[in-house]
Amino acid sequence: MNIYDVIAETSLAGNELTDEQAMAVLDCPDDELLLLLHAAYKVRRNFYGNKVKLNMIINTKSGLCPENCGYCAQSIVSQAPIEKYSMMKKDEIVTGAARAAELNAGTYCIVASGRGPASRELDIVVDAVKEIKDKHKGMTVCACLGILKPEQAERLKEAGVDRYNHNINTSSNHHQNITTSHTYDDRVNTVEMAKASGISPCSGVIVGMKESKEDVVHMARSLKVLDADSIPVNFLHAVDGTPLQGTDELTPRYCLKVLCLFRFINPTKEIRISGGREVNLRSLQPFGLYPANSIFIGDYLTTEGQEGSQDWKMLEDMGFEVDLEPLNRETAKALT
Ligand code: SF4
Repeated sequence: MNIYDVIAETSLAGNELTDEQAMAVLDCPDDELLLLLHAAYKVRRNFYGNKVKLNMIINTKSGLCPENCGYCAQSIVSQAPIEKYSMMKKDEIVTGAARAAELNAGTYCIVASGRGPASRELDIVVDAVKEIKDKHKGMTVCACLGILKPEQAERLKEAGVDRYNHNINTSSNHHQNITTSHTYDDRVNTVEMAKASGISPCSGVIVGMKESKEDVVHMARSLKVLDADSIPVNFLHAVDGTPLQGTDELTPRYCLKVLCLFRFINPTKEIRISGGREVNLRSLQPFGLYPANSIFIGDYLTTEGQEGSQDWKMLEDMGFEVDLEPLNRETAKALT
């Protein structure tokens, strides 16, 4: 049994990886990468078989954000030439859900820029979600509207929101290097608030923002403590005009090692290869689905994704299937 098989056994047994094991994953020599992927796939297959969840994002409000997140093209400090618009109308959000259904996306993610939703914005989302849940039975609706107040979380839950996304983004140690307009704890508190309202928590990270490998291990462990059901792993696609412009420290092989680490530390959770998939994993994208079991289909918030048909082709070529099961917090049960 090689070291990665031992790590897979540790993960499958529900035990914590040691610091040495976690670093061995990120430091895996490139000529052992297939061994690592094979071990991570054993864990993924145990909980998710060959199913892949598809998620589609709609950016309902773009730019105009007073926060200063260094990676974000929509922030107040960004000079990136993105399209800026205020909150869409309810009907546009509902129409987006029909598009998600066409793309076989089981989860529709309603995202808005900003520190948190204004009451008019929340009203629009609440009305849209009610209509979407009525028209598309079984579709999982995720909202991502920034920092929430408890009563706002309650309203989203009542409207039918299944999941709430608020990323921790990076480690608690590195957070102040990425943004100073809100704290790491603000982010964690919103995830906890969504959970307290009975909404499934989604929280993830952005890798490639000049953090250390120890920070990456810390992020994966923090999400385990938070018990995030869904973990989007973004790989920085540094947009010109943002403070992180020109940052390009990832290789496709390192991205795969990061995905394996997240799978081992969060074995039962939905691990999603998120923003930056195409530009960072490049020709190795399909290999990412050995540790991960979820991807976005369509475009990201301010950058384009590849054509949905290419994603379907990738899944078909790999012998993977789209998972259309609706969200269920208890779904991640061992298949074997
Ligand atoms: S990540 Fe969100 S909060 Fe931060 S600047 Fe972008 S839109 Fe604003």
